[in-house]
Amino acid sequence: MNTTTQPKAPVRADTSSFQPDALEHLGTPAKNRSEEAISREATETLKRKVKGQIVLPSDLSYDEVRQIWNAMIDRRPALIVRCADAGDVSHAISFAPENGLEISVRGGGHNIAGSALCDGGVTIDLSTMRRVRVDAEKKRAYVEPGAILADFDEAAQRHGLATPLGINSTTGVAGLTLGGGFGWLTRKYGMTIDNLVSADVVTADGKRVRVSESENADLFWAIRGGGGNFGIATQFEFKLHEVGPEILAGLIVFPFDQAKQVLTRYREFVESAPEELNVWAILRKAPPLPFLPADVHGKEVVVLVTFYVGNVAQGTKLIEPLRRFGTPHGEHIGAQPYRGWQKAFDPLLTPGARNYWKSHNFTELSDGALNSMIEFAGKLPSPQCEILIGLVAGAANRVPADSTAYPHRDAKFVLNVHGRWDERKDDERCIAWARAFFRASAPYASDGAYVNFMTEEEGDRVAAAYGSNYDRLAQIKKQYDPDNLFHLNQNIKPSPRQGR
Ligand SMILES: Cc1cc2nc3c(=O)[nH]c(=O)nc-3n(C[C@H](O)[C@H](O)[C@H](O)COP(=O)(O)OP(=O)(O)OC[C@H]3O[C@@H](n4cnc5c(N)ncnc54)[C@H](O)[C@@H]3O)c2cc1C
Repeated sequence: MNTTTQPKAPVRADTSSFQPDALEHLGTPAKNRSEEAISREATETLKRKVKGQIVLPSDLSYDEVRQIWNAMIDRRPALIVRCADAGDVSHAISFAPENGLEISVRGGGHNIAGSALCDGGVTIDLSTMRRVRVDAEKKRAYVEPGAILADFDEAAQRHGLATPLGINSTTGVAGLTLGGGFGWLTRKYGMTIDNLVSADVVTADGKRVRVSESENADLFWAIRGGGGNFGIATQFEFKLHEVGPEILAGLIVFPFDQAKQVLTRYREFVESAPEELNVWAILRKAPPLPFLPADVHGKEVVVLVTFYVGNVAQGTKLIEPLRRFGTPHGEHIGAQPYRGWQKAFDPLLTPGARNYWKSHNFTELSDGALNSMIEFAGKLPSPQCEILIGLVAGAANRVPADSTAYPHRDAKFVLNVHGRWDERKDDERCIAWARAFFRASAPYASDGAYVNFMTEEEGDRVAAAYGSNYDRLAQIKKQYDPDNLFHLNQNIKPSPRQGR
């Protein structure tokens, strides 16, 4: 059976009152162009060429269209092209250099660094291209670049199918995939890129190419982890697996004073756990969850988040020992639709808050690493800040480091420090906490970084993020984007390296 889904336009939170830039040093250097600076004739010509919509600063919808997930980012493109198809993407790519403008590319708009938007340049906005077509017999999904995870999961789950994606349903498939992508299914089925079969890409010269193991294989290698450096993907083809529709999942919440014991046992437990079982650990203040006693709400806790894909009775037996890692405040675990679980964390990750994240990879969770997590979770600067340990050990580790651009195949855990708060006045305090924890935990981390969790000030981590794959990436960049047209991202410079 073959089905196609065209989701409704996304509903965005009103973040228009957020004005960033307590952190000016984090801002993209603007080209200082305005709508007026682009000739009316050039804009009119582009309007005639594209099927989608051109949004200018003078348009009523401009402020809504330029909103992205992280409310700290407030950039003003000179022109936004809301593309309707690959042809529009090609026209928009040509238009920018012809008019001396930078390009930013927006998929789901979730990137923490805010690279979806630029100041005074052209934002190529793919967010209205959200169709997902599923070929259930072939177990393949064909996904447009504006699709969010919910679009993908809804279409694939109609056939009891899925592929590894992230844990927040409003994240964009495109950015997540191009940077690597991991989530609950990663232990069993690998990273998102390990399930990418082919993609359609528009390159810097406006050409449309198909990439796969057998077509433009170098470019296919590069886009599996190399981010948006090489062109704009207009369609992805993914492998699908039988998942659910019911899985076993939920939370066990422990008191914070048992953190060391719980995390030490967690570390031992996951060493031999089957790959169908995933368990992540979160240190944060307890949200007002109904299964927790009221006096626990707002207090620091340790949460084990469990996910089992397989027979529910078997999964129930497997997770039993987790309950004895301490004396839980409460738990909420049960069989539920995979599609619903993929949205379970959405209420904690809504758009409109201020966010600053830092991340490390770990090949093991040493005592030093656990101690630093517990120390900093004991001084969370806001009720929304959290420290998250994602378990990725499994299928992703069996892929050779040089077989895709994403090299960190030895990473068993990905640590993410979610600095998250509401008020601008708290920027400095919350960012300082995230940075201090990042520094304190660095000695226990492995080399490298996950580009999808990097802030824009971390350009100096890009080479480390690609390790021994960097030089090959720089060569491919030179071949496909010698002028570094796609540079508003975690940028790989064309080799030989040149400044911008
Ligand atoms: C709340 C939240 C939860 C997250 N959870 C996870 C998770 O569980 N697992 C995980 O792996 N990651 C996760 N991430 C990180 C996520 O993978 C990145 O933020 C990713 O960049 C989001 O993709 P997007 O399309 O939404 O981003 P956008 O901000 O739209 O795009 C980010 C960048 O990707 C590039 N890009 C986007 N689309 C294209 C395209 N079609 N062609 C070429 N380049 C393109 C561009 O350089 C763009 O600037 C999470 C992020 C957030 C904010």
